Amino acid sequence: MSVIENLEPKLLWKYFDDVRKIPRCSKHEEKIREYLVNFAKEQKLDYKTDKPGNVVITKPASPGMEDKPIVILQSHMDMVCEKNSDVEHDFSKDPIKLKIKGDILLADGTTLGADDGIGVATSLAILEDRTLKHGPIEALFTVDEETGLTGAFALESDMLSGKIMLNIDSEDFGILTVGCAGGGDTKIKLPIKKESIDKNLIGLSIKISGLRGGHSGVDIHEQRANAIKLLSRILWKTSQNHEFYLFDIKGGDKHNAIPRESYAKVCLDSNDKDKFLSDIKSEEKTILAEVKSIDPKFKVNVESIDNPNSALTKESKISLGSVKEPTLTLLDSKGETKEIKIAEKLEKGKYNIEIESASRIAAKAVEMIQKDLDDPNSDEKPAYRTDQEWEKQLKSSLNWP
Ligand SMILES: [Zn+2]
Repeated sequence: MSVIENLEPKLLWKYFDDVRKIPRCSKHEEKIREYLVNFAKEQKLDYKTDKPGNVVITKPASPGMEDKPIVILQSHMDMVCEKNSDVEHDFSKDPIKLKIKGDILLADGTTLGADDGIGVATSLAILEDRTLKHGPIEALFTVDEETGLTGAFALESDMLSGKIMLNIDSEDFGILTVGCAGGGDTKIKLPIKKESIDKNLIGLSIKISGLRGGHSGVDIHEQRANAIKLLSRILWKTSQNHEFYLFDIKGGDKHNAIPRESYAKVCLDSNDKDKFLSDIKSEEKTILAEVKSIDPKFKVNVESIDNPNSALTKESKISLGSVKEPTLTLLDSKGETKEIKIAEKLEKGKYNIEIESASRIAAKAVEMIQKDLDDPNSDEKPAYRTDQEWEKQLKSSLNWP
């Protein structure tokens, strides 16, 4: 008799007990896959498998819940197979031996495979239990999570139709992972041109500082301000009422950090300087009111600098600010733009603006900028939209929930 037979909830532990008996080291998931397929057949549930070996079992909504969105429950079939050197255990056929110490379930001299055996057992219990009230369920079981997520990466596109996914493979007890910082990178190169400018224009550097920064994954939900995004906003706002040239821009420096500082260098007619400065001040005040509770030390410094003699052409400034929207704000609707700079290296006399972003939205944004550039007259007047509006629009164009 197994030590977990009488644990509650019974159904969950019944399946954990099944799963722990099945060999399932990473890249050797044949037996557990067979078990899952048999389970689906016995339960009269539809299932799909794909080439990499992933399995999806679908369960229809309980009565009255048919209009609810599909929820994907994700777990992985494989486990890390490790044992103490003095333990006799063959992972290719032996069941994991269990013991209970106090109220903690342990394996005897080997890894337990609770990662992610408990996730698999949870999904199976939900699939079997007909007393639960829920919308349609897609239970996804991936292969080879532990040695590189190769199953998840190669998941075939017709395996799932749900858009909400609960990953049942968390590090911390009691935590259900419903989102992820993600790791996709988008590198964008916008070609720019420079031209020589009037020697009488005055140079100004606009610098943003005082932000908290932090990890772009772990701290992003706190709505910490992004220096690139705020700089872009200030440039965009001021460009509505001032003619200025942009000749340098830089912000952010780490792959996984929310940008804390940024600067832009511009030049403009000296007669316009005072109004330009007061417009920046007023935008600074507006921004501070928005970010004060999270980033109270936000500030904008403007200093006089030398006129550089050359700057981005108007068209290039436009491509950076996009025609209808500031590119950076657009890219940054998720607060994830990490780095921007005018590349120091000249490629055949051409500069590039390099923008790095972690967001999938960024790729979509670039597509939209490109459209703007192809047809600058497609819309009459630029309109400043809030991030929330952008996010909504981008999400709907990406068909996100
Ligand atoms: Zn895991």
